[in-house]
Amino acid sequence: MKKTNKLGVNTICTHVGEIKDEQFKGAISPIYMSTSYQFYDVDVKRYPRYFNTPNQEALCKKIAALEKTEAGLIFGSGMAAISTTMLAFLQKGDHVVLQETLYGGTYNFVVEEFDKFGIEYSFTKSLKIEDFKTEVKENTKVIFIETPSNPLLKIVDLNAVSELAKANGIITMIDNTFASPINQTPVDFGIDIMIHSATKYMGGHSDILAGAVAASEIHVERIWNLAKNLGGSLSDFTVWMLERSMKTMSLRVKHQSENALKMATYLEGNSKIAKVYYPGLTSHEDHELAKKQMKAFGGMLSFELVEGIDAMDFQRNLLLIKPSMSLAGVESTLLSPSQTSHALLSPEEREKQGIKDGLIRFSVGIEEVEDLIADIEQALEK
Ligand SMILES: *Cc1c(COP(=O)(O)O)cnc(C)c1O
Repeated sequence: MKKTNKLGVNTICTHVGEIKDEQFKGAISPIYMSTSYQFYDVDVKRYPRYFNTPNQEALCKKIAALEKTEAGLIFGSGMAAISTTMLAFLQKGDHVVLQETLYGGTYNFVVEEFDKFGIEYSFTKSLKIEDFKTEVKENTKVIFIETPSNPLLKIVDLNAVSELAKANGIITMIDNTFASPINQTPVDFGIDIMIHSATKYMGGHSDILAGAVAASEIHVERIWNLAKNLGGSLSDFTVWMLERSMKTMSLRVKHQSENALKMATYLEGNSKIAKVYYPGLTSHEDHELAKKQMKAFGGMLSFELVEGIDAMDFQRNLLLIKPSMSLAGVESTLLSPSQTSHALLSPEEREKQGIKDGLIRFSVGIEEVEDLIADIEQALEK
């Protein structure tokens, strides 16, 4: 295959990293489930937990090509990717700056585990770059961001964060799950390491749990050195399923982003909706920044119901859209952050973060948007 960075995104999704079936000339990658490979007369000693089976290596190429990096790694979950990557770059006495709002699992990993490793951490007061600057210390080794953020879809300035980091010799990591590499390639803005819950847009069908990392060879090698010890690799069958899913990722995400923009526009004009959070709306506080660093604005949005409409009643009345956890499937799903991701916070803390009881996070699927709107209309009527 010729140089992958010349190929268009749908071609990368479909073809990069595919394994040629030399034996039977089949059109798709064969699946290699072996956990035992010959040890002599081979270039590589292969073993699934070394992250180097044929299917793992092949899919890493697709992920790296999509994120425009030299290398990639695939993990058993998004959290395996996040935890391994952070621990690969942080040791006793180091400090990490984390943005104010992070995926709940990432937040828990930091506050529950870092003390025992002697790793210091600070969360920023807001997503503004000044608040990142304030937290940087002499021993800061990593800045960790996640944009768009969950659930209010706030945007962090990628360029500003990478400049701040480079000026201080700090590594930058982004959880790029919400945007997916289709809508945002942070390496273009100087970010070092991209991390994904591949459970979401890469998988896209709510049936795969996986994680991914993309970065330079040097950074990926450092992550790999720890990854093989921690053992968070993904089964080759699921790797193969993920390759299959990723062939349609660009088609799915593009359509989801279009649907989400239409949905956000509709919701903004509905008198029963108090507020809509979507970076693609001109009313969004970070719209200009989002336009600079995102190709489209993604399939995730949030909205608040007006007082007097109960969020749980509304969700129970839906017929098509599924009130369920997780996100990014081809089917539309929604949930109440106050009942799920932010349930453990006190009502005061939720209020402070802008998470009202009437707030609903919406993962827009690939259905016809007219049908989704009709479902919302009938649920609001009841
Ligand atoms: C789901 C998710 C994760 C965690 O991924 P798992 O695959 O569930 O381990 C991390 N970050 C974001 C933004 C997510 O949505």
